[in-house]
Amino acid sequence: MSLRDYRKMRDFAKTAEPRGGKRAAARARRFVVQEHDATQLHYDFRLEHDGVLKSWAVPKGPSLDPSVKRLAVQVEDHPIEYGGFEGVIPKGEYGGGTVMLWDRGTWEPEASNADVGRALRAGRMKFQLHGARLKGGWFLVRTRYDKGGKKPSWLLMKERDRYAKTGEAEGVTARYARSVTTRRTMKGIAG
Ligand code: MN
Repeated sequence: MSLRDYRKMRDFAKTAEPRGGKRAAARARRFVVQEHDATQLHYDFRLEHDGVLKSWAVPKGPSLDPSVKRLAVQVEDHPIEYGGFEGVIPKGEYGGGTVMLWDRGTWEPEASNADVGRALRAGRMKFQLHGARLKGGWFLVRTRYDKGGKKPSWLLMKERDRYAKTGEAEGVTARYARSVTTRRTMKGIAG
């Protein structure tokens, strides 16, 4: 799903989410995780590629435990500027609810899948995250296409490395309950 889909799904007269301009020029790849308290709380995992943010909705959020596989439903590409969005999407609008910038930084594909477009098409990508909260090696593996191929299912998994945490009682999403940029809580953003 493209940026055109992104725009079709939203009324920019009503929501403060960015409309998005032209595709951004190539440079360091950004990544962002946004906690989104919509109909169901989820974490939006976004990787910059080819001038847009490739996007997955992760209902349970990322886990640092390599034995934990987290469902990540691929959704429409978002504009690069969305990576700076924190605020409230009005009730009744698409994705209505509070959005918090939970983590951000840069990412890079492993040398074995340096051709990111090809890795995404193949449905298997290994990459490094350089965030404030998420670091080290990660995998995204596609497990299923939906009918029509619009919302494929992937799994998001942590690699076993020095940033992994096996069997932690409290997940990384619970450990960090505040915005990575403004230090606000979800309540603070909503109010
Ligand atoms: Mn969302």
